[in-house]
Amino acid sequence: MSFAKEILEKVKAKDPAQPEFHQAVMEVVESLELVLEKHPEYKAHKIVERIIEPERVIMFRVPWVDDQGEVQVNRGFRIEMNSAIGPYKGGLRFHPSVNLGILKFLAFEQVFKNSLTTLPMGGGKGGSDFDPKGKSDLEVMRFTQSFMSELFRHIGPDTDVPAGDIGVGGREIGFLFGQYKKLRNEFTGVLTGKALNWGGSLIRPEATGYGAVYFAAEMLKTRNETLEGKVCLVSGSGNVAQYATEKVLHLGGKVITLSDSGGYIYDPEGIDHDKLKFVMELKNVKRGRISEYAEKYKSASYIPINPKDDFNPLWNHKAHCAFPSATQNEINAKDAGNLLKNGVYVVSEGANMPTVPEGVTKFVDAKILYGPGKAANAGGVATSGLEMSQNSMRLSWTREEVDNRLHMIMKSIHSNCYETAEKYGTPGNYVNGANIAGFLKVANAMMDQGVV
Ligand code: NDP
Repeated sequence: MSFAKEILEKVKAKDPAQPEFHQAVMEVVESLELVLEKHPEYKAHKIVERIIEPERVIMFRVPWVDDQGEVQVNRGFRIEMNSAIGPYKGGLRFHPSVNLGILKFLAFEQVFKNSLTTLPMGGGKGGSDFDPKGKSDLEVMRFTQSFMSELFRHIGPDTDVPAGDIGVGGREIGFLFGQYKKLRNEFTGVLTGKALNWGGSLIRPEATGYGAVYFAAEMLKTRNETLEGKVCLVSGSGNVAQYATEKVLHLGGKVITLSDSGGYIYDPEGIDHDKLKFVMELKNVKRGRISEYAEKYKSASYIPINPKDDFNPLWNHKAHCAFPSATQNEINAKDAGNLLKNGVYVVSEGANMPTVPEGVTKFVDAKILYGPGKAANAGGVATSGLEMSQNSMRLSWTREEVDNRLHMIMKSIHSNCYETAEKYGTPGNYVNGANIAGFLKVANAMMDQGVV
């Protein structure tokens, strides 16, 4: 049995009900076979066995009172996965699907992603099965205050620095920070994604989407191409999707789709700056549904999700590039086939693990420019790292300065993945490049620090 299979069997036996975590581990460990052959010392020190086990898992009750005066109970989590190269760092997700396995997969991915950013950040992730959809601002505030009333004792600017993810944006980070400050009686950079007037960084909201597009541009550069004139499919309509769309527009491309959990819009004329402004207002302020886009713009059609479909029609349009920016496993094997059939040859993942393993294999075999999430969407956490630096120095950089740094970081992540893939005998395979380059830095730090 191969080492990767052996590890996977152990993980499955230990935590059988965590399929997303198994998927994330398998993908990384398969790439690592190439490293472990050359470096038996990692095997001897059981680095892989240690890296897949969280350093700490915190699970807690989150009771709160809704607007009707009813008591509600949710479950809160924080996975402190690995602190070999810096304090735990990673987002909080509020979504009804959240469970331990999903957060472990996200925390595990985060370890490698943070390592790739070149910044000193360990990996973590957290969240709750709370669903912010349809809740009033006051309900969201009461829930987040209760959530932080437990979380505050486990985090800190040098220990664990959470940020946003699905369902956690500027509003939630504000409430979380307020409660942390009240309980600790200190004003520190304990969360990132803060508003600009109390410690946030310019470009942090834009960073993940912009970064995924910078990464795509770097991949295209290896073929002497640019995004100019490229037709792009974007899924999601939240933070990542909005700013990926904006950067595609900046670089001369055209975005023809956006989605939410109800369905997607197809606008063959393209989503221009004005239409994007409408989407931002719709999603970030009115908290409405993407279907309203097609009511406003007659060039667009709205296609609701059909639960009987075994594929997502969003991925079945003629295009050059795809930026999956909604959630995990949103591109199944059939979708991957449809993308290839429709001429897509650049896939840059804004979301975490949006492509199922069979889909990844199809992309890699087809030798398209496929940037896996842990590399392509690392711009968000990298800019969170820049927010931490600014907080520590008590100063704030200009928009240009942060954007330049983000751009440089994305270029360096790209070249690191590209060169590592080549060095390990799989040129053009960004999956191997990202997994191996991310692993090596953390593994070496773990070796240096002994068995802890
Ligand atoms: P948001 O909550 O801002 O937006 C999420 C979008 O995806 C919404 O349009 C949402 O639709 C849709 N969506 C969420 N879950 C599902 C689902 N199960 N099925 C269909 N659509 C769904 O989140 P972000 O934009 O911040 O995050 C999107 C992805 O990017 C996630 O995978 C996240 O982990 C990843 N990511 C985010 C980073 C960040 O900085 N924010 C950093 C790195 C990665 P609806 O509103 O209907 O739920």
